[in-house]
Amino acid sequence: MTAENYDAIVLGAGGAGMMCAAVAGQRGRRILLVDHADSPGKKILISGGGRCNFTNLHAAPDRFLSANPHFAVSALARYTPADFIGLVERYDIAWHEKTLGQLFCDGSARQIVAMLREECERGGVEIALGQSVRDIDHADGRFRIAFGARTVEAPAVVIATGGPSIPKLGATGFAYDLARRFGLKIVEPRPALVPLTLSREEALFHALSGVSTEVVASAGKAAFREAALFTHRGLSGPAILQISSYWRPGEPVDVDFLPGAKPGWLREAKRATPRAALKTVLARHLPDRLAEALAERLALAGELANLPDRRLEDAERQLSRWRFAPNGTEGFAKAEVTVGGIATAGLSSKTMAAVKVPGLHAIGEAVDVTGWLGGYNFQWAWASGVAAGQAV
Ligand SMILES: Cc1cc2nc3c(=O)[nH]c(=O)nc-3n(C[C@H](O)[C@H](O)[C@H](O)COP(=O)(O)OP(=O)(O)OC[C@H]3O[C@@H](n4cnc5c(N)ncnc54)[C@H](O)[C@@H]3O)c2cc1C
Repeated sequence: MTAENYDAIVLGAGGAGMMCAAVAGQRGRRILLVDHADSPGKKILISGGGRCNFTNLHAAPDRFLSANPHFAVSALARYTPADFIGLVERYDIAWHEKTLGQLFCDGSARQIVAMLREECERGGVEIALGQSVRDIDHADGRFRIAFGARTVEAPAVVIATGGPSIPKLGATGFAYDLARRFGLKIVEPRPALVPLTLSREEALFHALSGVSTEVVASAGKAAFREAALFTHRGLSGPAILQISSYWRPGEPVDVDFLPGAKPGWLREAKRATPRAALKTVLARHLPDRLAEALAERLALAGELANLPDRRLEDAERQLSRWRFAPNGTEGFAKAEVTVGGIATAGLSSKTMAAVKVPGLHAIGEAVDVTGWLGGYNFQWAWASGVAAGQAV
């Protein structure tokens, strides 16, 4: 069968693939964008609670995890949050900053998908949906792909099929299989931005399902001050999702339940309100049910006046460094992203091209670059997509 020829074939019509295809198409390249899903940008549609947290004003490279923290620097510097905001504004999409530099659509994530589709149209990109790619042949500097009844060929292929998080949305480990087949290494993929689960011994906390409070959660050297949420299986909320990307099985997660409390605050409370019980004092700063559970665990019954200062100091220490021992995560089924992926060591940070396989590129979540919660992952999808789109 004679093959149809393109300048580049982009595999995966998520944020990274659509951006890459649009940029390359608008440079005059003949681009085919292929996805096995029946519509593009499914993760964009459900992102940010349906409003897509499309970037973060503070998208500096130190907010991304990677075996090589320098890899993302170049692409992020060449396509910045301001560049994406410029694009969003050209499409009259209203947006707002929610918190911590996180930018959301006022209306709907559908606007971002429609914008990217139109950008692809402007670049004359051909989109083939509902097409599962199984394998790629590579010979004489050309990639040949068969899907459905078609065979297509190009000197460049871009792997933009994402990571395995949320398989029910069509996510697969295909990017890794393909990368391995071309000799690229994979940094062990782990679920990230994912709720942590607690064992039965910490069951007291399961009973707090639905309770949320601002904390500082830390694991190793990483620490995040945001809300934490107790769930029926363990811990969630932004602070926990953030720390989950850094957490390794077997490690503890420390939670400061009273961030910003001055040392000696419990002794001071004892002097100011000696008749109060610990539970009552904690409930001034924390949700009632949490205050009750923590007081119960600290086992300091009775009025503060009857508790020695030393024990209050111990309680303060414990409250500021409550040690949880998560027994796992809720896995790829619930993970917003994947940490790890195609090793950056085999890729050019300028063009996202495989150093040893001319014409092969990898972008977006498929690559071992993972952002914090809050718009960082889309910024990486856009920036890496643009970098490859300018190169193919
Ligand atoms: C619930 C949820 C909410 C999120 N919210 C945010 C947010 O608000 N802000 C933020 O920055 N990030 C958010 N993220 C993360 C963000 O969605 C991803 O980091 C981003 O979508 C990655 O883009 P991508 O293009 O690399 O991959 P994807 O968006 O995963 O796109 C990959 C595409 O490849 C296709 N594909 C996979 N395998 C094959 C195959 N074998 N053949 C053909 N096609 C294939 C898939 O169908 C998909 O369309 C969220 C993630 C989830 C799950």
